[in-house]
Amino acid sequence: MNAETLDIVIVGGGLVGASLAAGLAGSGRRVALIEAAAPPQTAPSWDERCIALNHASRRIFEGLGVWDAMVADAAPIRSTHISEQGRFGVARFTADEAGLDALGHNVPLRAIGRTLWDRMLALGGTRLYCPARLQALAIGDEQAELTLDSGQTLHARLVIAADGAGSRVRELLQIASERRDYAQSAIVTAVRTTRSHRGCAYERFTPDGPIALLPKGEGDKTCSLVWTTPADDVDMRLAWGDAAFIAAAEQAFGERLGRFVELGRRQAYPLARVMSEALQAPRVLFIGNAAQSLHPVAAQGFNLGLRDVAAVIDVLSVAGDDCGAAALLQDYAARRRDDRERIAGFTDRLVRLFSNRVPGLRGLRHLGLLALDLAPPLKDAVLWQNLGLGSEAPSLARGAR
Ligand SMILES: Cc1cc2nc3c(=O)[nH]c(=O)nc-3n(C[C@H](O)[C@H](O)[C@H](O)COP(=O)(O)OP(=O)(O)OC[C@H]3O[C@@H](n4cnc5c(N)ncnc54)[C@H](O)[C@@H]3O)c2cc1C
Repeated sequence: MNAETLDIVIVGGGLVGASLAAGLAGSGRRVALIEAAAPPQTAPSWDERCIALNHASRRIFEGLGVWDAMVADAAPIRSTHISEQGRFGVARFTADEAGLDALGHNVPLRAIGRTLWDRMLALGGTRLYCPARLQALAIGDEQAELTLDSGQTLHARLVIAADGAGSRVRELLQIASERRDYAQSAIVTAVRTTRSHRGCAYERFTPDGPIALLPKGEGDKTCSLVWTTPADDVDMRLAWGDAAFIAAAEQAFGERLGRFVELGRRQAYPLARVMSEALQAPRVLFIGNAAQSLHPVAAQGFNLGLRDVAAVIDVLSVAGDDCGAAALLQDYAARRRDDRERIAGFTDRLVRLFSNRVPGLRGLRHLGLLALDLAPPLKDAVLWQNLGLGSEAPSLARGAR
């Protein structure tokens, strides 16, 4: 079998790899995408979930020309409401105070994936290896050699690892990662409620973990529900009949949306934080979950990964013929460091602050939510960070492309 020579090979066609493939299609570079699952809609990330896309992600997708197609079935998030079970402190954020029409959009994950895939195919030029699995990787001075499970070899100046939290590229290069198992799973489903959500995304912290209800684009009384569940209780909550699950979820969430009257299919996702110790290695960049995989409590994982994608597009836009040159890889890592540390740190602190049961911390948490609601500078900082518009945002996220 002949080796194929390319500029860029993206390993992994989940949400992040597919976003980059769509962004590079038509760029004039010779790009290949390797994805293990076939058809792509069966890959781990192409499931029934909705993903809350923040304002920066909207701008990035607008810049890539895919936004309008993916939001047809989405629900705008006009406000958020964060509270703690049994406490009065509440933090609220509204689109009005941010001067925006929406803080974000809750978009069916399949709609994101389908739109990206269609865009990549429509622009043409991307070599697809799907289903195919990266098996081996050898790094040379001028290029990398990738071997697929079919025995096919590819040569590329740059390899982009978008192969998820258990990255095979990371493993093959023996790059360490820091892993923290939260001993929790997120149970995800849909609920119909008796009261309208009016575009508000709710998150309520309970001693067992947060429960979130986000508007879903099917009328104004359907929400996606994400219920963080201690590992020991996951099987039990999945085995409950709908009535028992609804009763327990209502008890945890409270009555802000009235009663829960209908439930969708339940799916559980074990939660861990996995941070790659490097964002680049010779001829290789890491993006999305391959770079950092976060707890979904703050709905930041994909939003952050999409800013990785936008930063790759930025550095490649000024690259010469050698798009895997060391300086370019270092530039990417430097651009991503602060955003990544800030979001990963914020997310982890949020999980740990609210998931322990130490009595003294309860008052602090309550004060924290109140302070957040009342102190404008603090509130602004959190708001802009969650919108993905902190400093150093890539050009696409600033609407500058
Ligand atoms: C319950 C839950 C809710 C979430 N909600 C939100 C949210 O509201 N907002 C948000 O921003 N984020 C959210 N996230 C995070 C988001 O889902 C992830 O950040 C995102 O899906 C990561 O995408 P990825 O493409 O980097 O990785 P993955 O989705 O893991 O994709 C990796 C891909 O690589 C492929 N692959 C793996 N190994 C190989 C190989 N050797 N060869 C070829 N291909 C390979 C896999 O088949 C897969 O398709 C949530 C996560 C969870 C668990």
